[in-house]
Amino acid sequence: MLQNKKMKYQRVLLKLSGEALMGEKQYGIDPKQIISYSQQIKEIVDKGCEVAIVIGGGNIFRGISGAANGIDRVQGDYMGMLATVINGMALQQGLEDEGLDVRLQTAIEIKQIAETYIRRRAIRHLEKKRVVIFSGGLGNPYFTTDSAAVLRAIEIEADVILKGTRVDGIYSADPEKDKNAEKFTNISFKDVYSKGLKVMDMTAFTLSEENQLPIIVFDMNTPGNLREIIEGKDIGTLVS
Ligand code: UDP
Repeated sequence: MLQNKKMKYQRVLLKLSGEALMGEKQYGIDPKQIISYSQQIKEIVDKGCEVAIVIGGGNIFRGISGAANGIDRVQGDYMGMLATVINGMALQQGLEDEGLDVRLQTAIEIKQIAETYIRRRAIRHLEKKRVVIFSGGLGNPYFTTDSAAVLRAIEIEADVILKGTRVDGIYSADPEKDKNAEKFTNISFKDVYSKGLKVMDMTAFTLSEENQLPIIVFDMNTPGNLREIIEGKDIGTLVS
């Protein structure tokens, strides 16, 4: 596989929310989404990009919604973490079906189905052009997979976090409610705070800012976007 010298980012951390896997469904995993995401990820791996993925679990279970229904918060959070492992397994299968080498690592030990998270091992996989999926979040309750995405990105020295969503970037207001909402191409961490915009939860966002880790928010449901970002095109919104 030839290394493409024109790539802007050599090593990326792609954050996919659990909800993104639902596609048209109200719950769970839409196989069409898995196939589409796997194809897009293959495109950038084929260009020589090193790809680590953090996957969410909101399509299956969120600790906070469990708590609202009488489930102990910590118990619910662990259920949420396990949901991310289910999503990770589905994505691993989808990526393998595209012919990629994939390693699933978990923050909670489940050794029959995945490797336990070991930073040096993850980096070695990336150097060998294997896709690494980090599931189980951080392995601690009261955190989100956005925090896991930022921490893992810092640990593996990723160039950028690519937050794949259903919207095409960060707007000055909700574009569905406000016709005058403007999309930012670039925005600083400070402006995100001062304008009261939401990119990630605060714990994750602050960690990213403190470590000067840029975040690109983009629409993962438009095939080609991921590749164009790697090639250096201004897709979505860059927070830096
Ligand atoms: N979670 C947790 N610790 C973590 C990551 C996740 O407790 O480090 C739990 C939490 O309950 C969360 C759920 O797992 O609601 C699913 O993750 P998240 O909500 O981040 O998924 P996404 O919104 O990306 O689908």
